[in-house]
Formats: sequence, C-alpha cells, structure tokens
Amino acid sequence: MSDTIENVKCLIIGSGPAGYTAAIYAARANMNPVLYQGTQPGGQLTTTNEVENFPGYPEGITGPEMMIELQKQAQRFGTDVRDGWITKVDFSGDTHKVWVNEEKEIHCETVIISTGASAKYLGLDSEQKYLKLGGGVSACAVCDGFFYRNQEVVIVGAGDSACEEAHYLSKLCKKVTMLVRRDEFRASKIMEARVRNTENIEILMNTETEEVIGDGQVVTGVKVKNNQTNEVTEIPATGFFVAIGHKPNTDIFKEYLELDETGYIINKPGTAKTNVNGVFVSGDAADHVYRQAITAAGTGCMAALDAERYLAAKDSEFEVSTSTYN
Ligand code: NDP
Repeated sequence: MSDTIENVKCLIIGSGPAGYTAAIYAARANMNPVLYQGTQPGGQLTTTNEVENFPGYPEGITGPEMMIELQKQAQRFGTDVRDGWITKVDFSGDTHKVWVNEEKEIHCETVIISTGASAKYLGLDSEQKYLKLGGGVSACAVCDGFFYRNQEVVIVGAGDSACEEAHYLSKLCKKVTMLVRRDEFRASKIMEARVRNTENIEILMNTETEEVIGDGQVVTGVKVKNNQTNEVTEIPATGFFVAIGHKPNTDIFKEYLELDETGYIINKPGTAKTNVNGVFVSGDAADHVYRQAITAAGTGCMAALDAERYLAAKDSEFEVSTSTYN
C-alpha cells in the first residue's frame, strides 16, 4: 500500500459513454474529475464496429473512434484520464475510499460509478474468433442488426433479452433461427408468445451451439446439436447473435450499495443517486433494460449534475455551520 493518499473531488470509475459524459460535465463544472479507465478502456463500444444510432453522426462512426473522441472531449476540459483498475472501495464513512490496482489509495468527495456491464458469451473458440474479427458475432441486436438486413441470422438464448432481440431482428432479417438449450424458455410468457407468433423466427428447442462456421473472415453458418437426439446440423447464417445475459461490473460495490438480484446497482428513481450519499451511478451498471450508448451518456450527465448539486449543498451546509461559530 502507498503511504500517500490522494484527495479527489470527483472520481469517475469507467471509460464508456457514461463515464466520459460524466467527465465532460464534471470538468466543465470545475469539479476536477479524475477518471480511471479500467481494464477495457472505452468500454463495450470498443467491441462494436460501426455505431450508426448515436445522434450527431449522420455517416456513423466506429465504436473505438467514438470513444477516442469522447476521451478527447473530456480531456479538453481538464479531466485527468488515468490507466488503472479500481480493486477495492470503502463507502462506510463520510469520505469515500477507493484503491487503484490494490495499491494507491484515493479519498473522494464524490464517486461516479460507470463500470458498465459485460455481455456473456458462450466461450467457443470459433465464436471468439469471429467476434474479434468483427466478422458477424454480436451481443447487441439493436447495435448490429441493421448490418444483416434481408439476411439469415442465428440467435442463442431464451430469456427476455433473446426474445426481444430475436423479434427486433425478425423485422430486419429474412430469417432468424433461435437456439434454446432447454425444452422451455426462461422468458416471460408474453415475450415467448411474441417470438412463437412471428413467422420468420424458427425456434429450435434443446439445441446447443457446437461451432460458429466461417470463411476465415466472416460467419457463414452455425453448427448446432440437438441435445436429446445428438443430431448435428448446419444452419446457414451471416450473423450470430448471443443473448444469454449480461453481468454488471459491480462486484466491488456489493458490500456498500443496494444491488438488485442480478447485481445491477439500484438508483433512486429519476436520479443517479445510490443509497450512499455522494456515490452516484450511470450507464449499464444500473440499467438492464436500455443498455445503449446514448442512454448511458444521458445518465452520465445526470450523475455529474447530481454530484455537482451534492457538493454545492455540502458546501452551503459547511458555510452555515462555520458561520454559526463566527
Ligand atoms: P436471463 O438470465 O434472463 O436469460 C439468459 C438466457 O440465456 C436463458 O434462457 C439461459 O438459458 C440462456 N443461456 C445462458 N447461458 C447459455 C449458454 N451457455 N448456452 C445457451 N443458452 C444460455 O438474461 P436476459 O438478458 O434475457 O434478462 C436479464 C434480466 O433482464 C431478466 O430479469 C429479464 O426479465 C430482464 N429483461 C427484461 C426485458 C423487458 O422486460 N423488456 C428485456 C430484457 C431483459 P436457461 O434458461 O437454460 O438457463
């Protein structure tokens, strides 16, 4: 552990659209934000090829380019952007303590958590290969579905997300094949009924992915196995969508913050406030419903404004309490 403790007015954890937007607002409000990027600088968007649905980019922009632009904008107003991974926090006292890489200790007046969520993948080598190549594997139908217009795609998963995404894809694609590993859905009945009643969605029950097939550059099909009959078949497809859930990156906060049953941070409705004064949340760490760059950016703005108001209220309390002694 280091013996020098740094004091920071506003610490932002995470470098996706939520974190950088919070940084832009906090920096412009003279809060001298320090932003730690985490292990995936730029967040989930860096795994997306083309972002076409963020307002203001009529020709689209790649995910990594967009994150570089956001970082530059945050730095232009003085955000101190640092490499590093927050490994531990202590929100039990008035001063919020945060440790970077198990070593450096920071005392913060406000903390904005923008640690995001990670999409779960099957973990097959072939899936990871085409994901890294940007060749047809995606965990976000709303982000990438458009690139598969009039094509045939496969989606794996049977929860509400998978149903919602399959339905979304069915409006763009010629055919959607949905792979359900058990003999029943996890999704709510109404969501299941929606996919069952959609003509161009074919549902294969008891079916698991064996391999994502491709030509070395892009996906051309999916090899699947029926786990009851062991029959293996190949489905032609140019896109392979994985919708088997997300994991919010909130483990280090669970001792102090209220989380829902899947680990998302619970914010006070209509605000970015958590149950701990001075600790705010933005982006996917608190959002399992929308999960878009633009909604993350919006809540990043909210978090910075809430933090600024919190500091202003604290300062005026201090002025009132010191003036009583004068
Ligand atoms: P869920 O955890 O609810 O569902 C995950 C699905 O993926 C399950 O069907 C699971 O199968 C399947 N799965 C997991 N691992 C694998 C694997 N290795 N191979 C194949 N299939 C796999 O996640 P969701 O993201 O769907 O939903 C998360 C939460 O968000 C839920 O509470 C949901 O209700 C909510 N939500 C609500 C929406 C809405 O109301 N509009 C929209 C989206 C989400 P199995 O069932 O066999 O475990």
